[in-house]
Amino acid sequence: MSNIVAIVGRPNVGKSTLFNRLIGRRQSIVDDFSGVTRDRQYGVCDWGGKQFTVVDTGGFVLNSNDVFESAIRSQVRLATEEAAIVIFMVDVTTGITDLDEQVADMLRRSKKPVILVVNKVDNHTRLLDAQEFWSMGFPETLMMSSITGSGSGEVLDAVLPFINEPLDEDFGIPKISIIGQPNAGKSSFLNALIGEERAIVTEIAGTTRDTTHTRYSKFGKDFILIDTAGIRKKAKVHENLEFYSVMRAITAIEESDICMLMIDATQGLEHQDLAIFGLAKERRKGIVILINKWDLVENKEANTAKEWEERLRAKLAPFSDVPIVFMSVLEKQRIMKALDVAEEVHRNRTQRITTSVLNEWLEESMRVLEPPSVKGRFAKIKYITQLPLAYPAFAIFVNNPNYVKESYRQYLENRLRASYNFSGVPLTLFFREK
Ligand code: GDP
Ligand code: GDP
Repeated sequence: MSNIVAIVGRPNVGKSTLFNRLIGRRQSIVDDFSGVTRDRQYGVCDWGGKQFTVVDTGGFVLNSNDVFESAIRSQVRLATEEAAIVIFMVDVTTGITDLDEQVADMLRRSKKPVILVVNKVDNHTRLLDAQEFWSMGFPETLMMSSITGSGSGEVLDAVLPFINEPLDEDFGIPKISIIGQPNAGKSSFLNALIGEERAIVTEIAGTTRDTTHTRYSKFGKDFILIDTAGIRKKAKVHENLEFYSVMRAITAIEESDICMLMIDATQGLEHQDLAIFGLAKERRKGIVILINKWDLVENKEANTAKEWEERLRAKLAPFSDVPIVFMSVLEKQRIMKALDVAEEVHRNRTQRITTSVLNEWLEESMRVLEPPSVKGRFAKIKYITQLPLAYPAFAIFVNNPNYVKESYRQYLENRLRASYNFSGVPLTLFFREK
């Protein structure tokens, strides 16, 4: 099951206001790091010790009136295919509209878990008005005000039972996805790896989910390849290409341990790539960047790749400790290298460091640089331990977590990266009171 929560509903009911509230705390972090300024349609929410990706389907609605209703329908259809649970938002100030009824109908038929959320219930009078929505017959009907935030905790609590525990991730065969924008070369890469027959299967994907999983066990390797190839064929069924391909990428990220983000060298690293990279990072997946079509880059010199790499890393900062592979699927260059690197990232991500080794490391780190004071107070860091999660996460016990500056957290992360190989792996450091 994917940890995707989709917010659907007609325009102006307050979807994006709720979305911003759910991911709000993280938004600024994500934006700082990717340089994203325009409104985001997806982000990560932490609640009750779980993590999930929230998708605001409204961010993809086309402006033209003709395609409006069909666009909403196609979004609802795709959202229900992909999401673990759907938040269906309606607006108390308008009451139940025809379009609400249509969406409700689709959701009921999808058999997906749905939470009906009546928004703009800002005061008591509206709470009375909101009661009419019970007539839509959804077992879970909640009232909230996205603007004041009242009721949002209840919505999140209702979502939680449908989200996997962080420990639930499969420790078995690594799952590696190939993601990236249309035309980057994903299908070609896939075909080079597993042959033409897979592509044929994709074509007849029909109404079933078309994120395909293929066991790859050749040349001493064994993993599950998750691909989003065939996007364009399927996109014709869904009217909105952007929404469709982004939704596919989000699903692939959710399902994988390692994401191979493929970039077309002739296009470079674009906004959408950075946004997807940011999501994979936030969801703590392993990441490898593949710069494909390297054959098309003209006048290559000895240091061209190095220069590219430096520019790319600057864009990815602060998470720039990511392997970058320059390849050409067409000329069959470095195809195996890409897989080797993905496997290495998987090893980095699943390594376990014993508590005693970590504490020696911590002592040394504090000898080199003591935690600076915060308003005259000093953090007294006691000890560190790695948490038993599917991704590297460390709990650091301290007299008061508020005395630990972000700069010191970053220092410890950088030192961890310098001491151990965490290339391609987002690190999580929790400071806990002891
Ligand atoms: P979307 O099109 O569904 O994403 O809707 P928006 O989030 O853009 O909100 C549409 C309008 O409703 C905006 O003017 C919001 O400020 C307003 N709005 C959103 N939530 C609430 C709420 O809880 N109460 C009130 N009174 N207005 C809200
Ligand atoms: P997808 O949409 O990401 O699955 O991309 P495709 O695999 O369909 O590739 C898009 C186009 O790029 C096709 O015409 C491919 O032949 C071409 N292509 C893929 N890899 C390379 C490469 O390494 N070099 C060059 N020159 N073209 C490539």
